[in-house]
Amino acid sequence: MSGGRRRPVIAIDGPAGAGKSTLAAHLARRFGFLNLETGAMYRALAYKAIDADLDLDSEAELLALCKVTQIALEPARDGNRVLLDGRDVSRRIRDGDVTAAASRASVHPLVREWMVAQQRALGAAGGVVMEGRDIGTAVFPDAEVKIFLDADPEVRGSRRYRQVASHEHEAVPVTETAVLVEMQARDERDRNRAQSPLRAANDAIRIDSTALSLDEVLARSEQIVCEHLRP
Ligand code: C5P
Repeated sequence: MSGGRRRPVIAIDGPAGAGKSTLAAHLARRFGFLNLETGAMYRALAYKAIDADLDLDSEAELLALCKVTQIALEPARDGNRVLLDGRDVSRRIRDGDVTAAASRASVHPLVREWMVAQQRALGAAGGVVMEGRDIGTAVFPDAEVKIFLDADPEVRGSRRYRQVASHEHEAVPVTETAVLVEMQARDERDRNRAQSPLRAANDAIRIDSTALSLDEVLARSEQIVCEHLRP
């Protein structure tokens, strides 16, 4: 196993709305791995920054916040239960204001450095499916399996819309167009930031889910994992 790990790391990267969370949760169940959703960590930090009224463009303010923050991810039936300094923030961090703030906070190199260190520690023993934007390129470039999941923006937009619309906590009603615009702005920021921008690792296997059913994506991914983990 790479990096002295006892068990493998499965890295799932890709843009918003590609279906990463569903895929990661499925693979974790199927192979008995821990599912770690790194986007939730950026969201938790961003939520704390909003609450403290910090300037999301200030790397120094955010880094100081990191140093007094504890984020824990606990396995839950669908995805992760997210504890911010011991408090369950799993639902609140899915709100639109936190989504936008997470994207802004994640451009800062020192914030990313702090996150990457946390994420490496969480996955150090292996036996994890880690999902995000930079897992295969920056967090675990030596991951045993790397999948880059993508889909056309319109398809991702309507998937994101269905996800957001089913999130009852949202105070303001959302439209599909608004979700698409917000998602494209995040994509743009994620792909163009200086530090570990969203891109597929050279050795990642790409799956374009635009024309695939969920079952097809899950089956294809399981096959990839089995092929890579075969002794
Ligand atoms: O995956 P999710 O949509 O919850 O992530 C929220 C935001 O956190 C993303 O838009 C992205 O800017 C940031 N993020 C990141 N690197 C990761 C995971 C998430 O920059 N590994």
